[in-house]
Amino acid sequence: MEQPKLNWAKSWLGSEKNFYHSGRWHSSSHTSATLNPTDGTELCRVAEASSADVDAAASAAVAAAKGEWKNWTRRQRTVALQQIGAVIRDNRAELATLESLDNGKTYQESYFDDLPESADVFDYYAGWIDKLYGENAPVEAGFLNFTRREPVGVCALIVPWNFPLLLACWKIAPALAMGNTVIVKPSPFTPLTLIRLAELIHERVGLPPGVFNVLTGGVECGEALATHPQINKISFTGSTPIGKKIVESSGRSNLKSVSLELGGKSPNIIFADAPNLEAIADRAFTAMFSHKGEKCTEPTRLLLEDSIHDKVVEQLVGRAAKVVCGNPFDDKTTQGPQCHEAHLAKVLHYIELGKREGAKLVAGGERDTVGANGKGYFVRPTIFTGVKANMKIATEEIFGPVLSVFRFSGEAEALQIANDSIYGLAAGLYTADISRAHRLANELDAGQVFVNHYGCYDFAAPFGGFKQSGWGKEMAVHSLDSYTKLKSIWVKY
Ligand code: NAD
Repeated sequence: MEQPKLNWAKSWLGSEKNFYHSGRWHSSSHTSATLNPTDGTELCRVAEASSADVDAAASAAVAAAKGEWKNWTRRQRTVALQQIGAVIRDNRAELATLESLDNGKTYQESYFDDLPESADVFDYYAGWIDKLYGENAPVEAGFLNFTRREPVGVCALIVPWNFPLLLACWKIAPALAMGNTVIVKPSPFTPLTLIRLAELIHERVGLPPGVFNVLTGGVECGEALATHPQINKISFTGSTPIGKKIVESSGRSNLKSVSLELGGKSPNIIFADAPNLEAIADRAFTAMFSHKGEKCTEPTRLLLEDSIHDKVVEQLVGRAAKVVCGNPFDDKTTQGPQCHEAHLAKVLHYIELGKREGAKLVAGGERDTVGANGKGYFVRPTIFTGVKANMKIATEEIFGPVLSVFRFSGEAEALQIANDSIYGLAAGLYTADISRAHRLANELDAGQVFVNHYGCYDFAAPFGGFKQSGWGKEMAVHSLDSYTKLKSIWVKY
């Protein structure tokens, strides 16, 4: 692992950061601070894009979609995507440093989890540019019908703060691969890595102006994107309530197409027959608590069969006690701070609710004031047992290091608890019984089901939720559906 680039970051953060569109940098009379969640200090000030700035960026993106970019060869686009992947790879330590400063995840998490995938996804979609075929429909004699995939146009890509660079790259790569132009909007809590990516692309990739744009800002900027008449698509990752607002904004404006990756409350079922219980409990802990529990697919509802309940809980509690909250750049740290202060308050609120609702607190349950002299937004990994279906900690997304454990007996009860949620992002199950594994994988109402290993991700496999966890898929060829329009062309002989 390369060392973090803290000195470089200090000097980079020494100036106010602007946003990027039309191939140029733009300042604003409104700025906001982005804070370091490890100690609450200001990292730097960032310009906020207004609705007028969204107008200017959208016009530039429309012009770019119709201009030189439209005539770029497949080879030119492939090379550009590969170059973006390469600049991310070449600047891995810088970007990982900024990500950990801004979001609070450990440097190791940024360096090993977020950065490689952010780069590699560009190579993956560069490979699709000359491989997405149309169809030739078996219509009646005398006619030819074939389909063509065309770019959607201007895509606004709105992302949250938990994987600020990675989730944006999941969208930027397929959108550009299919010939669209993009306006990316990071969360105001974590804008830094996307600003840096824009600098790197501006300096080293040479896309035509207006093809790649980054607008920093908050709700005003997000709403202006979602309601803009010249924007053809919103790809949104974030909370379910804001996802619903995006759909309304689309309806109120130009019915732009919308894809949504939203919240979750994912179950992870462990049956008593599952082999190697210790390894399974270990994995359940990591899947839940890595990235300080700020992952959409994390298995926040752990369902344990009666006879193994106490043993697994004991192991989880033991692991929780060993967690070291602290500075994300310290090698001994295993858990960084929650991303921002309001989120810290939200997580602590749910912990208090869990106690009041009568769940049994067996680990954590409090703010960790040891890390970073008590000023950071740290929460000890928290585990509740005896959780009942009607409790808020059982039904609402907390998005922090808080695990709810349920006890069940038998397959039917496990399935009933697992599917009893408005969300359907992911689900896991552990069993030695292959028939039961397949039966339940079919019955679990979730966009991805993990059998005997919770949390598998690969560019080649589609990713996305059911129910109120979202619409559409990211990754794989399926993501390309949402960045293209399918045209059906008829020819009479
Ligand atoms: P959020 O919904 O508050 O914000 C997400 C983005 O939307 C931010 O950039 C924000 O500035 C912007 N925004 C806010 N109001 C807007 C509006 N009215 N119109 C347009 N844009 C607006 O989410 P968050 O707190 O940043 O992130 C946490 C949430 O993201 C959790 O619910 C989590 O489950 C979800 N998430 C889902 C996935 C997934 O793949 N399903 C992945 C990561 C995070």
